[in-house]
Amino acid sequence: MIDLATLKEKLALPRKIIITTHHKPDGDAMGSSLGLYNYLIQKGHHVKVISPTDYPYFLHWLPNNAEVVIYTEKEEESKKLVAEAELIFCLDFNALSRINELGEEVRNSSALKIMIDHHLEPEGFDDFRHWNIHASSTAELIYDFIVHQLGDGKFINKDVATCLYTGIMTDSGSFRFPNVTSNLHRIVADLIDAGAENWRIHQQVYDNATENRLKFLGFCLSNRLEVLGDFNTALISVSKEDLKPYNIQTGETEGIVNYALSINGIKLAAFIVERSEKVKLSLRSVGTFPANEICKKYFNGGGHRNAAGGASDESFETVVAKFKSILPEYKELLLA
Ligand code: 5GP
Ligand code: MN
Repeated sequence: MIDLATLKEKLALPRKIIITTHHKPDGDAMGSSLGLYNYLIQKGHHVKVISPTDYPYFLHWLPNNAEVVIYTEKEEESKKLVAEAELIFCLDFNALSRINELGEEVRNSSALKIMIDHHLEPEGFDDFRHWNIHASSTAELIYDFIVHQLGDGKFINKDVATCLYTGIMTDSGSFRFPNVTSNLHRIVADLIDAGAENWRIHQQVYDNATENRLKFLGFCLSNRLEVLGDFNTALISVSKEDLKPYNIQTGETEGIVNYALSINGIKLAAFIVERSEKVKLSLRSVGTFPANEICKKYFNGGGHRNAAGGASDESFETVVAKFKSILPEYKELLLA
């Protein structure tokens, strides 16, 4: 591990820098990555953002999104960039398995690895970390890193502010989760002062659906929602066949799980979707119920207590049945 003074010294000269984030990046992953990118380029660094996979269309408007390299589309270029990097920033994840094949490239690289993250249980591949599980988002930590650790508040320009606002907004459920503090609102106020157009960001992320996506949501709620009243649990499960008529793209299923959680009395909500490679689970919970424990124990995943995810190679039907069979184990907590 190195200390902040050493990192500051490294950053005093223009460096070759890679920023990477977890696969299937969400608003916080891309917002924090491009927020940091838009800061570092002002300091004269040569910076590339590498995403392990593609990501939702409603994040493609982020400032300098065109500079992002997608590993699965440009493997050789990505590997070369990682091999040549002097510093690698790893944002919004803390285990190299979260960046797929890119993980081994990063592990084998001689670059200095800086992890900025808010998830539990870091694996420990990093040389410097800014890590706080109580942070609302990685974007909040990037703000803290730039403003308080590096003392560079004056570099929070409109592009940086726009990206960080997006990360905070999406990971805090639009400023409504328990990790939203008065201090976070002060940060957000600062970002608006720096040029983040809050109303436009909300519109671009949330009011940007295709007609198909909205019709698919209607289908899910009418035909695929199961309320398991004995366990205060609601489940929406969709098969590959269900997705087909609506031509559902990356990211278009995001947020559907929250409709299941919005039912009065529900403590645990699940969204299970059969993708071409794997069956993916998204869990959301209320209060102290540990959604991440279920994901870690049964579905090769993890995340936060109230928002977690996982995946399985088993069949769609098996995963749905397995999820239901786990609930009795948690009955006491779910009914508390
Ligand atoms: P989502 O349901 O939106 O895919 O994920 C919710 C949260 O769980 C996110 O904070 C994400 O980082 C985490 N998460 C999702 N999938 C996985 C996974 O496979 N492994 C781990 N460790 N965390 C995950
Ligand atoms: Mn995050």
